[in-house]
This record gives sequence, C-alpha cells and structure tokens, in this order.
Amino acid sequence: MLLNFDAASETPRHVCTSKRQGNWIIYSCPLCPGYERRMNLQTGVVSVREGEDPYILHEGSFVPAGLENTHSLAN
Ligand SMILES: [Zn+2]
Repeated sequence: MLLNFDAASETPRHVCTSKRQGNWIIYSCPLCPGYERRMNLQTGVVSVREGEDPYILHEGSFVPAGLENTHSLAN
C-alpha cells in the first residue's frame, strides 16, 4: 500500500504581483489578501507577512523601471 504523494506537485504555488515603493519592492499575492513580501533594494532586507496559509509557495519577479525602458531611451 502506497501512502506517498508528490509534495512538489501537491504544494499550491501562487505567482505574486510586484510594485516599487521608494527603495522597497513589494510583492503581493492576488489570491492571498494578507500576504506581502518586501525587499529593500539598498540593504537587501526582506520582510515577509504570511497570508492565511503559510504552506503556499509564492514566487514573483520584478523588472526595475528604467531597465525595461532602456531600449526606448537609447533611441
Ligand atoms: Zn498566495
């Protein structure tokens, strides 16, 4: 009798949205109203406020404004 399961595929995974506020990048999850992860661009300090379910994996990326406009600025 097998009682194993694939933890990786069973773990819920949410993709966060990101925004910049001063020196902070703030990630928030559209599915978890309480969840927030902040990262300070200058100090590298990260602070996380967990949502209702701390077992949900959150991932996100941030493209700094300025880098995405590099091409148009070069013209
Ligand atoms: Zn979430």
